[in-house]
Amino acid sequence: MTPSKEWMIFFNDRFNEKYKVGVEQFLNYAFKKTSEENNIRCPCVKCNNTDYGSREVVEMHLNVNGIMPNYTTWYHHGERLGESSSDDEESEGSDCDEILRDLYPNMDGFYRSGSEIGSSNENKHGEEPNDEAKKFYRLLKDSEQPTYPGCDTSKLSVLVKLLHIKSIGRWSNESFDMLLQLLKQILPIGSNLPESYYDSKKIIKDLGLSYQKIDACKNDCMLYWKEEDKSNMCKICGASRWKENSHNEETKVRKNGKKLAVKTLRYFPLKPRLQRLFMSKKTASFMRWHHEKRVDDGLMRHPADSMAWKSFDDLHKDFSIEPRNVRLGLASDGFQPFTHSKKSYSIWPVILIPYNLPPWMCMKESNFILSSLIPGPEGPGDAIDVYLQPLIEELKEFIWEFVWLEYQR
Ligand SMILES: [Zn+2]
Ligand SMILES: [Zn+2]
Repeated sequence: MTPSKEWMIFFNDRFNEKYKVGVEQFLNYAFKKTSEENNIRCPCVKCNNTDYGSREVVEMHLNVNGIMPNYTTWYHHGERLGESSSDDEESEGSDCDEILRDLYPNMDGFYRSGSEIGSSNENKHGEEPNDEAKKFYRLLKDSEQPTYPGCDTSKLSVLVKLLHIKSIGRWSNESFDMLLQLLKQILPIGSNLPESYYDSKKIIKDLGLSYQKIDACKNDCMLYWKEEDKSNMCKICGASRWKENSHNEETKVRKNGKKLAVKTLRYFPLKPRLQRLFMSKKTASFMRWHHEKRVDDGLMRHPADSMAWKSFDDLHKDFSIEPRNVRLGLASDGFQPFTHSKKSYSIWPVILIPYNLPPWMCMKESNFILSSLIPGPEGPGDAIDVYLQPLIEELKEFIWEFVWLEYQR
């Protein structure tokens, strides 16, 4: 793990204590990873990683000349792609804590402080908790229950891991039920894992972890949502919504009687994730980085340095005046999830990248936001517009919310 790179923004203010501490941590990291005969490449603006120096020399260069501000992946000092950084670590906790925080960002402080449910039920303002909060308290209580009396691992933690294995191993729902039955028999009395896959899924659904499934025309003309939610055929090309048996052209039906759609879009609501970005004080200040900390020296190291960004600002002055307004980059590329399967089937994930964040954070996978999974087999091409509708609609809703917040102030 690389040390924090937050100090690099002070490359013009090198007497800042944070800069000095950062330089020390950088040197410790670099010498541990890459020193050759006690020398490393010097990343100061003059040496440009071409010249080598001892610890003392590099330290002096960094303090006198300053570090190259766009050297945000310390490749020449042992950092490798995908390596985590201590900037990513907000707090320690189990996977489940993180999932819950992800879902209920507004409860962040509460959850981390681990306060007693009863005493915090009335918050500072003496208000009754709303339904959302009540649901969270319930989940919190449930997730903290040990799997069986005396067990260190919580019920939710075990459940999420089991479901993960099921999904990686592509177990059938029936085999998962069988495993749960077996666990029930062998775990001590008082164990509280759900009894079936159905019940497990329900718990996850109540957590808000599930995505929305929206069927689509097989020719990508339209989505079956809103008024078209119940339609059986595409109103543009007339193709059937449902899978048909190739020999008798009858609609394929699942065991549970439900029809199988030819194509389905999976959509992950954006709102809770965006809220999270602004919840923690630290990330919230990073979300204003492009406005407050970025140095305009003509070097291109962040989208905010680009012409496109600047002309957007000129065109939309009302938007750009508020640095907290979220700017998202959108990326999509197809991939083949089941490499061993003979059938060619690719899905096209749509990823959002919060461009408000500084360069060393906005290109980190952990800060990417998965928005949609567009079904294959071919890429959506121009039809991507059709599949982006749910996202666009949610974004439009935010505009109204922001306006509303403005109004309330
Ligand atoms: Zn140097
Ligand atoms: Zn169609």
